[in-house]
Amino acid sequence: MELLAEAGDRSMANSEFYSPIPDGYKLGNHKYVVILGTVMSGLGKGIFSSSMAKVLKDKGLTVAPIKMEGYLNIDSGTLNPYRHGEVFVLEDGTECDMDLGTYERMLDQDLSKRNFVTSGQIYSEILDRERQGVYLGRDVQMIPHVTGEVKRKLRELALRGDGNKPADVVFVEVGGTVGDYENGFYIEALRELAFEEGPGSVCFVALTYVIEPQALGEQKSKAAQLGIKRLMESGIQPHMIACRANSPVEPKVMEKIAMFSNVPMGRVFSMHDRESIYTIPDEIRADGLDREILSILDLHNRVDARREDTARKRWATFVDGLTAEKNHTVKIGITGKYADLRDAYASIDKALEHCSAHFRTNIEQVWVETSDVNDRNVAGHLADLDGVIVPGGFGSRGVEGKMACVKHCRENLVPYLGICLGFQVAVIEFARNVLGIADASSTEFDPMCGTPVISELPDQKKIEGLGGTMRLGAQDVKITPNTLASFLADGHSSVHERFRHRYEVDPARIEQLEAGGLVFSGRHPDQPIMQILELPRTAEGVKGIAPEEPITHPYFIGAQCHPELTSRPLRPQPMFMGLVAAALQHRYEHDDSIWSDLMRTNTALKRWLRTGNGKHQNA
Ligand code: GLN
Repeated sequence: MELLAEAGDRSMANSEFYSPIPDGYKLGNHKYVVILGTVMSGLGKGIFSSSMAKVLKDKGLTVAPIKMEGYLNIDSGTLNPYRHGEVFVLEDGTECDMDLGTYERMLDQDLSKRNFVTSGQIYSEILDRERQGVYLGRDVQMIPHVTGEVKRKLRELALRGDGNKPADVVFVEVGGTVGDYENGFYIEALRELAFEEGPGSVCFVALTYVIEPQALGEQKSKAAQLGIKRLMESGIQPHMIACRANSPVEPKVMEKIAMFSNVPMGRVFSMHDRESIYTIPDEIRADGLDREILSILDLHNRVDARREDTARKRWATFVDGLTAEKNHTVKIGITGKYADLRDAYASIDKALEHCSAHFRTNIEQVWVETSDVNDRNVAGHLADLDGVIVPGGFGSRGVEGKMACVKHCRENLVPYLGICLGFQVAVIEFARNVLGIADASSTEFDPMCGTPVISELPDQKKIEGLGGTMRLGAQDVKITPNTLASFLADGHSSVHERFRHRYEVDPARIEQLEAGGLVFSGRHPDQPIMQILELPRTAEGVKGIAPEEPITHPYFIGAQCHPELTSRPLRPQPMFMGLVAAALQHRYEHDDSIWSDLMRTNTALKRWLRTGNGKHQNA
């Protein structure tokens, strides 16, 4: 019944039109930019779309991105990260594609389940409704019902906008490539949307690929032309074309593409490889594509030029830091195999990149495959590293090697950041090697272990009312005063971070671990769930360490949450900042001349060591 009302068409049962329009929605009021891939996928639709969205957001417009996936999974929670890249987790616990991370970072905007749609979600909602008899005896069809559902989702997002204000512009990224069976209905829905919303409401952008076969040594546009033609066969005329390529796209190649697709040259953009994706917003402006989009969508009168000026300056400082020549380098080990993990841990890579720009320091990532690491050879594997990250993970593969890495870092005062699994491994290592509980482990790796210091505690989850099998989404973490965690939180009594885990510190072991010297400096506000751990620091830093105080450490911290997910270019996550600052100390502090030079020239580092940055998102 609800559908009928929304359809605004009393005779839906007999009509061919089915276009749900949410209450309060005005046709033509919200604008849409649709990014479609041609030729092949993986070209960076999310990067182009988020860059363009950033440019408009900088101008004072409210933007809302959405990624529409063709696959049937309801979310990304069940996808293998080694196949599909990292599972990104949003504030509300949505497990989604890593592209949503790109949008959050580029736009500095928290997203929610509304910003992520899969075919599976759409079909499952429609099938549920069909069983409820909502369709009043009609045959339920791809068109108009499935396409109608897509339009409904887009319009609902437009109304909700960024969560505070309705969206001026919704950025729609369709997964895959034009011509794929599985995303065909999205493309049809978008064609219908453009028709219904009216002229000047939807801007279609085709992202295409210009190949440069080695044997020819020149750029060829045919594949791009064919790809765009395919899009036009679906009834969609692109307004703008972004050409992915290795090197800048030649004007004559752009001209050919422009001519064959009816798109003026001023709306064809060369999206060639660049030193950093974060330069793309400025390139878009430099090419005048921002003005083109404002014209296509008739948005010139919604722009705030002063706001744009400030936003551009702040962004330029970050990009300068990123691309500047850097005189100092730290080496950070990450336990995992590079080939497997590059995309699986994309957010860690990004979080380190943010710190690199902030501290104007090169960060060399060294991938440490832990399957063969043990206490005897660990020193060799971690030689010359200034810091180690044990990232999140599931299952027991390589866990004993990770344990050896933690032990090495703890005993040799190498800065350590444990994330989720890396937090749990640090607890187990401490129980085994400091408390002497040889059979300490997690029930995840060894269900029958003698002393499960980490275990699955369903009762606790019942109390917390989270249901499901994983603790997902953002939660408050209460911070213990006068700890490293409190320094990183800039003295605030709590931080807000995202979680994705099933196991946790067994509450029965907390007292014993603390008595042994482990500090739980972040906890659930009311439950005995441990969320941040650390070793006590020496007041004076590395130089003040006395050998008889073996557990004092310059930087040893673990988090049950995933701090990498909340790091943003202009607000690097403090646990990562702390790691990189400690790594710089580790590498250079013993050399007085380099260190005093660093203290003189690197104001960001100097300020950080003295006071923390005081600018974290939770502050
Ligand atoms: N496997 C661990 C758990 O489920 C850690 C999860 C993670 O690292 N994301 O609790």
